Amino acid sequence: MKEIAILGSTGSVGQQTLDIVRRFKNQFSVKLLAASKFSETLQKQIKEFRPEYVYIEHLNEDINVDNTKLLTGKEGIEFYSSLDIDLFINAISGINGIYPTYCVLKNNKKLATANKEAIICLGEILKEKYSQILPIDSEHSAIFQLLEKTKKEDISKIIITSSGGPFFKYPKEKLKEVTVEQALNHPKWKMGKKITIDSATLMNKGLEIIEAHYLFNINYDKITAVIHPQSIIHGIVELVDGTLFANLSSTDMRYPISYALFYPERREIGIEKLDLVKLGKLEFYEPDYEKFPLLKISVEAGKKGGAYPIVLTVADEYLVNKFLNGEISFLDISYFIEKVLNSVKFKDPKNIDDVFAVIKNTENLLEELVG
Ligand code: MN
Repeated sequence: MKEIAILGSTGSVGQQTLDIVRRFKNQFSVKLLAASKFSETLQKQIKEFRPEYVYIEHLNEDINVDNTKLLTGKEGIEFYSSLDIDLFINAISGINGIYPTYCVLKNNKKLATANKEAIICLGEILKEKYSQILPIDSEHSAIFQLLEKTKKEDISKIIITSSGGPFFKYPKEKLKEVTVEQALNHPKWKMGKKITIDSATLMNKGLEIIEAHYLFNINYDKITAVIHPQSIIHGIVELVDGTLFANLSSTDMRYPISYALFYPERREIGIEKLDLVKLGKLEFYEPDYEKFPLLKISVEAGKKGGAYPIVLTVADEYLVNKFLNGEISFLDISYFIEKVLNSVKFKDPKNIDDVFAVIKNTENLLEELVG
């Protein structure tokens, strides 16, 4: 029995993780479920998986969860991250996942994470702990699997694929009027709202390049992105002799999730296998850096390091929420991110308090700038 904790259990990755756990009930015991708020979904999960602990960030009403111990607040995170649990799965969306990631890694626990924002924001202060991480982000899981079969000195490049998002073929001049609904209509992946908007701006690919830099300790000049609309190849490793190793599977997050859950073993997980003939062709295109400026802006912020990747991540999350609420336009996201990055003069973070100070200061700056 593997004892697991699922942080962000009611979100897209959290629910898909529980889908797999449900299939392999006799191999996993869910010791903790964590969510930002109480919901019907969480209640059902508690009933089905009977965790010993439930963490709820916003615990503001009388909640009846019989037979489970309720946790909340910073102390709750510090407590659960010290528990004797075989694998923590971080399926939290956005910067909310930073403190749980920090505590789990600090306590030297095994972490499988889809929470790229936390990896990026903690990269400067915690990167020596990143070898404990099993990536769930599909591209990074693919590359992780390929790197396990490769000698580090043989690698000349890693290539991350992108579907291109819903606006891959959309005229640039019409981007200023796209609606929230259009931006949420992702052609390949069904995901949470934040990452879906990031996929429409290609910010997600920029964040993934920074994520890869920290996770795999690889220089930025050796990481590139390529548009691959079929989303069948998730990651490619290029070797010094020109050989390419690629990782292919159908577009389903349960592949990287199950890889992390069963690591280092593999299981038949009941997803229809890829039919290459039915698929027919795989296409690749250069990203349109003019149409999607955030791809370059984000990688530049990554290269600068220090507080920049944090400012980038925080600004993006803030602005994506504003866009989702109908308060700013689609193009305002990149406009304000660039503006914020240009006006930053924060010192390099040295510890977790510094990281949270950068977050707070960036949010204050955004309040002033955007409202
Ligand atoms: Mn991804």
